[in-house]
Amino acid sequence: MAETKRAINELAGLERDQFPILRRDIHGKPLVYLDSAATAQKPLSVLAAEEYYYRFLNANVHRGVHTLADEATTAYEECRARVARWLVSPNQESVIITRGATSALNLIAYGWEHHLAPGDEIVLTEMEHHANHVPWIMLAKRKNLVLKYIPLTNDGRLDLSDLPALLTPRTKIVTLTQVSNVLGSINPVAEVAAAAHQIGAIVVVDAAQAVGHFPFTFEDLGADLLVFSAHKCYGPMGLGFLVGKNEMLSQLNPLEGGGEMIETVGWHDATWAEIPHRFEAGTPNVAAAAAFPAAIDLLEEIGLPRVREHEQSLVAYAWEQLSAIDGLVLYGPSDSTQRGGLISFHDPRIHPHDMAQLLDQQGVAVRAGHHCAQPLHRRLGVVATTRASFGVYTNQDDIDALIEGILFARKVFDA
Ligand code: PMP
Repeated sequence: MAETKRAINELAGLERDQFPILRRDIHGKPLVYLDSAATAQKPLSVLAAEEYYYRFLNANVHRGVHTLADEATTAYEECRARVARWLVSPNQESVIITRGATSALNLIAYGWEHHLAPGDEIVLTEMEHHANHVPWIMLAKRKNLVLKYIPLTNDGRLDLSDLPALLTPRTKIVTLTQVSNVLGSINPVAEVAAAAHQIGAIVVVDAAQAVGHFPFTFEDLGADLLVFSAHKCYGPMGLGFLVGKNEMLSQLNPLEGGGEMIETVGWHDATWAEIPHRFEAGTPNVAAAAAFPAAIDLLEEIGLPRVREHEQSLVAYAWEQLSAIDGLVLYGPSDSTQRGGLISFHDPRIHPHDMAQLLDQQGVAVRAGHHCAQPLHRRLGVVATTRASFGVYTNQDDIDALIEGILFARKVFDA
């Protein structure tokens, strides 16, 4: 245990100085930020890159021939190229820049619609974030489709025993989260993708809680389309990505029409620009794109295997401490090798909102609620949970403060 604590604190100690927000006080107490799954804090390098963009490069991209426009376009396109170098084989796959994981998933759900007929089936899982659930509900309503769900085991992993029965010749799309934002479970995406491909379905992966947390490439997953948000891996808000095989993207209709996404426009018709531009109508968040490579630099400097090791040690330590609190219910697999850097828990005698508020009084920021996964919470038999989630800057003291805060809340409620 002493060795684990040393390892946890070593990385967090190195990184903490890079995140100025961690020097803030909350209610007179030092901030203990345990909400990185909602959004990760931003390092100085990302803040500086965004400021640099607005100070020295600001112009609209792909428009005009002046130097600023040219330099802004280079910065924007460099972000795309950097994400491609990080995650994919550039000749077979393309990176579409979006406003976030949610807009990328909506783009897919609208863009694939013309391939679907009434009665076709989409297979999801019982642990999806609303971002990878509601767009499919909307699509199913528009096209009279059937939604089916891969069920969960009692410890919050996917129960794949019924997968062969769930997949039928009518299954056209199989979609799943790579890491659950509530249960923490890391899903066997490649295994599900292989089964889905056998019956000719396409595979969409929500990697919002996975990218930047452990090493993998798009190819490792065997998926067709993958989405994630920059803000969850130390980058700016308002920026996300859709990574896809070129053969899939060429069959996807654009969702938004407007400037930049066209080749020619007449009075009654238009033709689309090449991939990726046909999916990027209007003015994008160029400043965010210019800053995101600095976040990738940070993750590459630390090394994703080390980031993973750090989060796994934090989860193991937090799980041990939390499960020692009498009556606290923890969700998801207990084995830290099977989960990402977050733990959701519930004290049956304290509402999660009260718990989070009392923790906030201690300076501890956690998230309480259904975490955009209402059906999953119904499946778990609770309306809400409290979630603590970790980043490269999280240290053992943060988890100790969480434990102390929970014990304080229980005293207040005399639980
Ligand atoms: N999927 C998962 C698993 C998430 O945790 C989130 C964010 N909470 C999203 C999708 C949506 O991401 P965004 O709000 O950045 O679009």
